[in-house]
Amino acid sequence: MALSGVEIFKHLPKTNCKKCGFPTCLAFAMKLAAKQASLDLCPDASEEAKAFLGAASEPPIRAITIGAGEKALKVGEETVLFRHEKKFINPCGFALLIKDTDADIEARAKSVAASEIERVGQKLRVELVAVQNESGDPGKFADAVKKVTENAPNAGIILISTDTAALESALGGLAGKKPLIYAATAENADKMVAIAKAAGASLVVKADGLDALSGLTEKIAAAGFKDMVLDPGARKSKDMVEQYTQIRRAAVKKSLKPLGYPVISFAVDKDPYVELSLAAVGIAKYASIIVVSDISRWKTLAMMALRQNVYTDPQVPMQVGQNVYKVGDAKAESPLMITTNFSLTYFIVLGEVENSKVPAWLAVMETEGLSVLTSWAAGKFTAAKIAQYIQESGVEKNVSHKELIIPGYVAVLSGALEEKLPGWKITVGPREANALPAFLKNKSAAA
Ligand code: SF4
Repeated sequence: MALSGVEIFKHLPKTNCKKCGFPTCLAFAMKLAAKQASLDLCPDASEEAKAFLGAASEPPIRAITIGAGEKALKVGEETVLFRHEKKFINPCGFALLIKDTDADIEARAKSVAASEIERVGQKLRVELVAVQNESGDPGKFADAVKKVTENAPNAGIILISTDTAALESALGGLAGKKPLIYAATAENADKMVAIAKAAGASLVVKADGLDALSGLTEKIAAAGFKDMVLDPGARKSKDMVEQYTQIRRAAVKKSLKPLGYPVISFAVDKDPYVELSLAAVGIAKYASIIVVSDISRWKTLAMMALRQNVYTDPQVPMQVGQNVYKVGDAKAESPLMITTNFSLTYFIVLGEVENSKVPAWLAVMETEGLSVLTSWAAGKFTAAKIAQYIQESGVEKNVSHKELIIPGYVAVLSGALEEKLPGWKITVGPREANALPAFLKNKSAAA
């Protein structure tokens, strides 16, 4: 049952000591009620408060971390069914499936290590390797895991085997690496939990259907183990959508603890297009870990772009950092333009300046990620603010002239800007970025 901020507040120390990072106990209580903070942040919470509030303040879907260090993958902690209600918190992770019978284990592991791309200012990659004990041979399995960790040292590891001896053998080389073990079933749950506990690992719980799955997780949680990931057995897109949606709905709307764990999805098919479609279903509909058999660049680009879009905060526009960016081999006499820090605006303008082949300086001003017209209308891209930014940016050290090109959409600012920036010439550029190449080429030819 969800508690209100006021109900939670009654159980806090009420000293307003700020140790939790919030100005008052009431402010902290409100954050707990919104499930945007954890009670652990209050060092003075009583045992009674912990017992009463602990479960109520936990996110409805438990956080699970795979791997160690700054490259570890954290999934779960989701609080809503639909992104527009707030946002999705922890992006799903991608895992490449490698079998211990594969002839090219090192090369496949290296492809994971080399998977990182940069898109809209964010670094994106395949975070995990799922090593499968296809051979049934514990020695071969441990050897495959060793090859993977050597060739993809930043990847989190998922161990797939039904053989507990093989798992124990492979886990020997993964101390401190917080792997994920696949999978506990009704038949082997006690032994698998013991292995996961001893290794500091998390554990996939697999059962066919949600009733069987929730019964099994309840039993495991009652035994004191909670770092679980769910596999309800869906392997077709229709089943994935149905089952993953039911799990998310039960966890966040009904607070059903036995289903309050992240979901792992196997998007594995011999047809790469089917495999990509299955991965897309998992990304869009609540899977937290998606296992694929192939990470060809064309496929991971699509998966990463979709994941990035699903997990952006709809209330916060994508932004780039405020800076004066050098485009091409810009020199002191190169033209200087200004725009806002909305990512889409920045990348479109940058692309067109690059297309022009005219080296230039691009001053990007912090406008809370709003586009040119919106930020002007919101009073964030005014003559006074642009003038202040130009004066404080240090751009005068980069250029030998005093001419600033402003977007055509804010031509109305040119007069006021010349007043605010004495000695500067304000030139009105084109309204649309696609006219920039012709504009810059003409300007360069006339110089
Ligand atoms: Fe209140 Fe605890 Fe936060 Fe201090 S740390 S302000 S006692 S909630």
